[in-house]
Amino acid sequence: MKSNNITRRGFIQKSALGAGAVMLSPVLTALAVDKRMGIALVGLGGYAGGQLAPALQQTKNCYLAGLVTGTPSKAEAWGKKYNIPQKNIYNYQNFDEIAKNPDIDIVYIVLPVSMHKEFTIRAAQAGKHVICEKPMALNAAECREMIAACKKANRLLSIGYRLHFEPHTLEVMRLGQKKVLGKVTEIDNGNGFTYRGDPNAWRLKKALAGGGGLMDMGIYAIQGARYTLGEEPIAVKATQEKTRPDFFKEVDETIYWELKFPGGAKSTGKSSYNNDWGYLHAKAEHGTFELEPAYGYGGLDGKVNDKPMNILNINQQAAQMDDFATCVRLKKQSRVPGEEGLKDMKVVDAIYRSLDSGKWENV
Ligand code: NAD
Repeated sequence: MKSNNITRRGFIQKSALGAGAVMLSPVLTALAVDKRMGIALVGLGGYAGGQLAPALQQTKNCYLAGLVTGTPSKAEAWGKKYNIPQKNIYNYQNFDEIAKNPDIDIVYIVLPVSMHKEFTIRAAQAGKHVICEKPMALNAAECREMIAACKKANRLLSIGYRLHFEPHTLEVMRLGQKKVLGKVTEIDNGNGFTYRGDPNAWRLKKALAGGGGLMDMGIYAIQGARYTLGEEPIAVKATQEKTRPDFFKEVDETIYWELKFPGGAKSTGKSSYNNDWGYLHAKAEHGTFELEPAYGYGGLDGKVNDKPMNILNINQQAAQMDDFATCVRLKKQSRVPGEEGLKDMKVVDAIYRSLDSGKWENV
């Protein structure tokens, strides 16, 4: 753990000067002893470069302290851009030496899905707390191994579920879970985008991605239903379609599902790599609410009974990482622990089983 840019002594001097001869208030004293957590990003691809590193320039409780990459040219360019000392830059082979580095408190895994388990476990064994990107792993069994390894190492594990810190989403959780408009009776939601990228990318390889649109995008829609109702689904029935089978040779393109919840709400969802979806519609006994866009980070929007929610958007990633840094400082479980990732992966596994069996499958 490294102190904030403002050194403790400097802060106390400045605060004391600002406060004249008056004693520091308890709040100022708390701030003065506050420390920012050092985060190392593992995998310097699109999400790390486009969202997480910029967000770490806005965070208050943590900062970008280290890098882990297999590409020496990225190590150099990122190191310069973000002023990261050479001693805090690792590759996938020497990564375990991070155990000896007191600058790094948290390791954030932003790699292809097939690498999440290995790097989560290695990070925990190196004594670091872990944030792992979604989907948590290739399947629920891997999630369980990751949770067990972090518990054994006495390290906190969190999943990169940024929406749990996003105000429109928090409002939907409140409306649904607190039954503000009565009990939610129906949810329909979907998430997807039209994949036009590299046909050789890891996202299209089953061994690296675990699956296609469902793993990458559908996970949000599954979670949308879960957090709107505040219930866990019992069973699922799914169907799929492929309009570009040559492109999506190994992974799913579009999947439709129905979830059975204990409270009896009707819940339909869909995921796609071939449709631009991103909505959540909920119908309750005494009204409706919705989000559209519901799952991205370019700004969410919502309505309650067809009237705008009028909620401001925030930097979701900064809020998510700041919260985890606080959890680490307070030794407190994150609101999105590994168990939350596991719950979604159990549904994903059941959806794939249902595609194979053509029947309802228990979650
Ligand atoms: P990306 O392809 O842009 O980056 C992946 C990184 O992993 C690259 O730096 C690549 O060099 C590295 N890598 C290491 N070994 C590799 C291998 N064998 N094959 C391919 N790449 C390898 O991917 P991304 O979009 O940054 O996604 C990374 C993770 O972040 C995924 O789990 C993804 O689901 C997640 N993600 C989350 C969000 C979100 O909103 N929470 C958004 C985008 C991505």
